[in-house]
Amino acid sequence: MTAEPTEPVLSGFRSLNLMAPLNDALDRAGYTEPSPIQSAVIPVAMTGKDVIGQAQTGTGKTAAFLLPFMNRWRGGNPLKPQALVMAPTRELAVQVAEEAEKLSPSRHFKTVPVYGGQRFAGQLAKLQQGCTLIVGTPGRVLDHLTRGTISVEKIRYVVLDEADRMLDIGFRPQIEKIMRKLPEGRQTLMMSATLPADVMKLKDRYMHDPEHVNVSPAVLTVEKIDQKYITVDEDRKTELLLKVLGREKPRQCLVFVERKRWADRLYRSIKAHHVTAAAIHGDLPQPQRERIMAAFRDGKIKVLIATDVMSRGIDVSGISHIINYDLPNDLESYVHRIGRTGRMGADGMAISFVMPDQGDVLTEIEHLINREIPVDRVEGFEAFTPRVKVNKSDVPAKASTPVFGRNRRTYSKRL
Ligand code: AMP
Repeated sequence: MTAEPTEPVLSGFRSLNLMAPLNDALDRAGYTEPSPIQSAVIPVAMTGKDVIGQAQTGTGKTAAFLLPFMNRWRGGNPLKPQALVMAPTRELAVQVAEEAEKLSPSRHFKTVPVYGGQRFAGQLAKLQQGCTLIVGTPGRVLDHLTRGTISVEKIRYVVLDEADRMLDIGFRPQIEKIMRKLPEGRQTLMMSATLPADVMKLKDRYMHDPEHVNVSPAVLTVEKIDQKYITVDEDRKTELLLKVLGREKPRQCLVFVERKRWADRLYRSIKAHHVTAAAIHGDLPQPQRERIMAAFRDGKIKVLIATDVMSRGIDVSGISHIINYDLPNDLESYVHRIGRTGRMGADGMAISFVMPDQGDVLTEIEHLINREIPVDRVEGFEAFTPRVKVNKSDVPAKASTPVFGRNRRTYSKRL
């Protein structure tokens, strides 16, 4: 008996049936296998359906939302953009635009990033030369729409990236105004690590029967990251940081602090020891932020002290260590901060400095990630159990759900 001739089985990105120029671009980028979010989002978005993608940065979500549009693009009037991506921070907007350039199916496919802090005239000149895709922060996008310097007429593909973060930052009024101006009948994708009520409201208002794709809840993506904590008094944190940097010798390290001023102050205290250190935060002029990011991406800066403006989306593959010099104010930020290492499944190390009265914060973080964070020992910094300030009756509701069983133990151990 002779075997029936069979269709060749396509594997990797080929199985997604993207057009040839995109497959070529993916080859050039060195992407062979689609990541889980890409395998899940791309086929659905290619059918034209609205999609809610629950995924964190570092999982390949940018290509997941760019490729379906690029695959459908067939030229058109270059003066009328056809797609709009909105992102919460300038850095993320630049990064999405860079990914779009990397995967661009043709030299006629033009991407223009628009964001605050950059001269309006420069952006306007680029927009006037024509573009296919606009990637911007909501404030600046709205500014252009109001002035009539971006035409919305042909926009048929819209992405809200990090929707939860955009709403946190207070972009909601701008996003709503923008969405109302966009043509009906467009396709809308919303990417969000979490789905708080505000995000769901946006979904109900601006999407039609979206398909919900959830491949990587934020907590899962941090599983490969080695996490530890060290207890330390506030006035010895800088000394501890220098010790930890000396011991770990990170390839590249992001050090998170709570306030912009503290970032500068810490930078001044360590720069004599670490000449390849820098600080970045929202008060720096945009060109300086861009220079620092470029140097960090190129590996010229090894230790970057940052506020949470950096905790989302920043994708620098060399980051081997995250140090939470200050614990984050909101718990979700912990996951986003440490997700700056361990990109696309690589390993990474996250070390958190915990002050003696921050035991409860540490415990809440453990609840969130459903994992016990072990203590790290550093000579001269005796490990002691951080004090938990709360009473048993204050145990967060989450602690009683069975899924957090392991951490319930942690919690009582520290009480
Ligand atoms: P993102 O989550 O979009 O920020 O992507 C994280 C990193 O993974 C970026 O550096 C991408 O260039 C890279 N990346 C995205 N998709 C793939 C893939 N399928 N294979 C290898 N690298 C990828």
